[in-house]
Amino acid sequence: MPIINDIPAFHAFLTTNPNSRILALCGAGLSAASGLPTFRGAGGLWRNHDATRLATPEAFRADPGLVWLFYAYRRHMALEAKPNPAHHALAALARQRRKFLCLTQNVDNLSQRAGHPPSQLRTLHGNLFTLKCFNRRCSHVEHNNTADPLVPSLAPASVTTPADATRPLPLVDADVPLVHIPASELPRCPQCASLLRPGVVWFGEQLDGALLGEIYEWLDEGPISVIFVVGTGAQVWPAAGYVQEAAARGARVCVVNTEVAEETLGPEDFGFVGDAAVLLPRLLEPVIGSTKDDGTFE
Ligand SMILES: [Zn+2]
Repeated sequence: MPIINDIPAFHAFLTTNPNSRILALCGAGLSAASGLPTFRGAGGLWRNHDATRLATPEAFRADPGLVWLFYAYRRHMALEAKPNPAHHALAALARQRRKFLCLTQNVDNLSQRAGHPPSQLRTLHGNLFTLKCFNRRCSHVEHNNTADPLVPSLAPASVTTPADATRPLPLVDADVPLVHIPASELPRCPQCASLLRPGVVWFGEQLDGALLGEIYEWLDEGPISVIFVVGTGAQVWPAAGYVQEAAARGARVCVVNTEVAEETLGPEDFGFVGDAAVLLPRLLEPVIGSTKDDGTFE
C-alpha cells in the first residue's frame, strides 16, 4: 500500500535526500486555488462551446474571432488571478534546489509570476502570453505579451467600443451574447501579416520537440529521488510517461491532488489528498521553511 497523507513520513524522506534530483509535473489542480477554470474534461464548456473544440487549428481556421475571444477571456482571467501558495512553494523549492525541474501543463503564467526560475521550468503546453504566427512558414514568436485587451475587438469588459458604440464586448459578462469578430480586427504578424495565434499547444498538435529534448537530457543526467505529480492524474498522459521515466531512474512518486488513485501507486510512493495550495507548502517545509504572512518562505 502507498503511504497516504503521512506528512512526517514524507518530511523524513525529503531530509534524508538533501542533494537529490527532484522532478515535478503539474496540471490544472496547481492553479485551482487561484480560481482559474480548466475547461478540461466533462463540462468543459465556455459560453456553450465545447472548450476542447475551440482549442484546435481547425477551429481557428474556421472562426479565428471565436477562438481569439476564448483565449482573450483566458488571458484576462489569468492576469486577474494571483499565484497561490503552491506556485510559491514550488518556486521556493527551485531556488533552494538547483537540481529541481518543474514541468507544467498550465499555460496561465502563474508559476513564472511566482518567481519560479525559468531555467527550472518547462511549459509543456506553451503560454497564454506567447503569440505566434499562424502561418507555418513564418517563425515569428512574441513572448510575455500581457496586453489586455490585446486588440480593441478583444476587450474583456462588457463595455462598448468608441468606434461602434452599439456593439457590446461581452467577454466576461456571460449574459451578453458573443459577437462575431472579423479577421480584420484580430492581431496580425508584424513580419508576414498573417493572423497571430495563442502560443499554446492545441489538441492534435505535437509538443515542442526542442522542449521535449531538453527534458530528456535532464532526465538522463542521473538518478531522481522523487517526482511530484501535482493537480493532475498520475495515470493520465503525459504524466504517466514522466512518472515511468522518473521511476526508471529510482524516483518515488508523490501525488498531490484532490483525488489520489492509490491502486496506481507503489508501496514506497506517497499520496496526499487535498488542495495543492494547502499541501505543497507543508510538504516542502523542511526545504523551503515555513510560510510567512506575505506568502513567501525565505
Ligand atoms: Zn508571420
